[in-house]
Amino acid sequence: MTISPAEQSRALSDARPVPFWTDDRGGPAPREPLSGPTTADLVVIGGGLTGLWAAIEAMRRDPSADVVVLEARYVGFGASGRNGGFISESLSHGIAHGAATWPAEMKQLIDLGRRNLGEIADFVEREGIDADLRLVGKSLVAVTPLQTRAIEAAYAQHREYGEDVTLLDADEARADVASPTYLGALRVRSGGGLVDPARLCWGLRRSALTLGVRVHETSPVVGLERDGNGVRVVTDRGSVRARKVLVATNASPPPLRRLRHWVLPVYDHVLVTEPLSADQVALLGWAEGQGITDAGNQFHYYRRTPDDRILFGGYDAIYHRGGRVTAEREQNDASHRLLVSHFFETFPVLAGLSFTHRWSGAIDSTSRFTPLFGTAWGGRVSYSLGYTGLGVGASRFGAQVALDLLDGSRTERTELALVRRRPVPFPPEPLRYPLVRATQAALAREDVTGDRGTWLRLLDRFGVGFNS
Ligand SMILES: Cc1cc2nc3c(=O)[nH]c(=O)nc-3n(C[C@H](O)[C@H](O)[C@H](O)COP(=O)(O)OP(=O)(O)OC[C@H]3O[C@@H](n4cnc5c(N)ncnc54)[C@H](O)[C@@H]3O)c2cc1C
Repeated sequence: MTISPAEQSRALSDARPVPFWTDDRGGPAPREPLSGPTTADLVVIGGGLTGLWAAIEAMRRDPSADVVVLEARYVGFGASGRNGGFISESLSHGIAHGAATWPAEMKQLIDLGRRNLGEIADFVEREGIDADLRLVGKSLVAVTPLQTRAIEAAYAQHREYGEDVTLLDADEARADVASPTYLGALRVRSGGGLVDPARLCWGLRRSALTLGVRVHETSPVVGLERDGNGVRVVTDRGSVRARKVLVATNASPPPLRRLRHWVLPVYDHVLVTEPLSADQVALLGWAEGQGITDAGNQFHYYRRTPDDRILFGGYDAIYHRGGRVTAEREQNDASHRLLVSHFFETFPVLAGLSFTHRWSGAIDSTSRFTPLFGTAWGGRVSYSLGYTGLGVGASRFGAQVALDLLDGSRTERTELALVRRRPVPFPPEPLRYPLVRATQAALAREDVTGDRGTWLRLLDRFGVGFNS
């Protein structure tokens, strides 16, 4: 079904240019900014999922600790409050990537990931966090013959690692969710599900405050300075002298300049529809309400929201030359229009539906698709950044690793090659932009031809890639 430019404009005409999850949905009043000087045992920079889990876990490890979270805007402003809400047990950016990159520790990574997801679910339940967490797995659908082969391979690999999977042919896939584009599907019933990401952030924020964490919003960190055997963290209106600092700024320019070589901000675009009527929902089926992604390199992800809208995102990942993260980049007409077209190709029975929200966010990409962990300044500063679009669950693991590193303790986590070995840094500009574009073009070609081509094979040899 081809959508005319006029129909694209109509569908987007009332869309608010803000993330659906945080738009007037009962979020908490902002905490007061930091003003003047203070002290703390630990300062966490960034109030996303990594920062919030880090603060909560630090209080669990030492209930008497004095922990401060400094957030530039408000809790959940970054990727954590504007993502698709797919929560996964994977710490390795999927089974295929993990098995290819860390074959010797893949079993352990799966076990740690399952434990992490289980502990998130337990915490959410225990704390009464109303985040609509549903561990319903997901479907990986094939929309081209090449993707059919990809899901068959994924089926075998998921079974090898004990996931609960069923391979569906075209009729079965369409009977589950009525899209004429489906040629098959891998229904994965284990390993994750869906969550309301903003409500998760707000719930974690409440838990952190209850534990005694001091959270300051609208408090951008503008500098870090060595201060005796501690660190002075400077914001626009105040400062904290702390023993330790944990950097959880993800795709934003990190306060430690050296980290900029590793994390590439790649803009990913999202739409949310108006609520579907009961008749429209019935036309789609989708009884289990699982999240869906297709199996290409350039993939879409989509899901129903708690109030029966459809969130539809992905495909068009944009790296802007120079990699600045700015508010103007959150609206991209061409990418949003492309998503409108793809949405109605996927669900032609919903013709005439409108979108109420459009936004984008910076995906935190590393060249190995898993975070960069480490310490600086003699172990006084640690960081976990760069989940490459799969951080809703893994951010809790990342927070624990960063705390282990600050504690100076050797744990099962810190001994992992995934943690100890760094991804390859991205080259600086002006080389970075053309290399990213060339890689994206090669990935798009592979989606059509099935041939990885010389460039991607070369990158594979060096364990380097590009993903969103
Ligand atoms: C559009 C989109 C869709 C995604 N979909 C999914 C998905 O469905 N499933 C999934 O698993 N992952 C997804 N991701 C990735 C996931 O959202 C992230 O990996 C995860 O939220 C990272 O959490 P974080 O806390 O590390 O980073 P963030 O949530 O980005 O938090 C970093 C925080 O640091 C703050 N900050 C930055 N600089 C400073 C400073 N100098 N001083 C103070 N504060 C600062 C920012 O304001 C921000 O709030 C998606 C990402 C995007 C952008």
